[in-house]
Amino acid sequence: MIPARFDYEVAESVEQAIELLGSDGDAKLLAGGHSLLPLMKLRFAQPTLLVDIGRLSELSYVREDGDRIAIGALTRHHDVATDELLREANPIVAHTASGIGDPQVRHMGTIGGSVAHGDPAADFPAVLVALEAELVARGPDGERTIASGDFFRGFLETALGPQEVLTEIRVPKLAGAGWAYLKFQRRAQDWATVGVAAVRSNGSARVALTNMGPTPVRAQGVEDALASGADPETASARADEGTSPPSDTWASAEYRRHLAQVLTRRALEQAFSG
Ligand code: FAD
Repeated sequence: MIPARFDYEVAESVEQAIELLGSDGDAKLLAGGHSLLPLMKLRFAQPTLLVDIGRLSELSYVREDGDRIAIGALTRHHDVATDELLREANPIVAHTASGIGDPQVRHMGTIGGSVAHGDPAADFPAVLVALEAELVARGPDGERTIASGDFFRGFLETALGPQEVLTEIRVPKLAGAGWAYLKFQRRAQDWATVGVAAVRSNGSARVALTNMGPTPVRAQGVEDALASGADPETASARADEGTSPPSDTWASAEYRRHLAQVLTRRALEQAFSG
């Protein structure tokens, strides 16, 4: 349980972090460390340089940005969960943060780290896909914005380049929208066996699933059924269409398909009840 040897640098700005990433082909950013360090201890990850961005306070904020809310990538889960602007204007994000891990995890883990890690069992990715959020990355060639639907590429794999830093997450304001994020977990304070994010706004609903494949999955069948007038119960029967859930020690793929349908029905009922 001891990581392989690595060098360690503290970045004092995003630009310096980008430079340091370019100085070593096996460098990795370190934010809250709550996903990367366990992988390093198991030697599933063996970066030769850790670039610590955990103290970059310029990337820790929540602020209004027109009809969106901008969240700095280094904002910790606790600060997302308790932020007044988010609780009022985009409560699904604050609610999701409040259900991540335990208080220790929420005080160290960052929203950017959670998204950049690309873990299909993590809670934020499906919520950001259902919200059609935008992710802002900065690298040696400048800044670019990536749609959440294009960001998650595979298991622990995202659209970020090796020298890119995720700097900001932009989510819409949800005035009058219905929403729900439900997850089934075997123990309190655990990752989702399956999770469902549902957002109803402007006459349509968007649904995305956690841990039903190597990336968050948009439940297109459910959305199509709702658009053609199906009720939540009928639409949720299509929740597992196009998914490829894993079978592991927590649950079989078949059980996950069942969970996806049940949780989707409950999430839709909640999102449509407001
Ligand atoms: P790190 O571990 O520091 O980094 C993770 C990865 O992202 C690394 O590859 C790193 O290089 C990269 N990275 C980090 N920041 C950036 C950035 N700004 N730009 C580009 N790349 C970056 N998560 C859940 O969703 N739900 C849970 O219920 C849950 N329970 C947990 C329980 C425990 C006991 C633990 C230890 C973790 C749990 N987590 C859970 C994971 C937790 O939320 C992590 O904090 C989070 O996934 C990663 O955030 P971090 O800041 O710790 O990232």
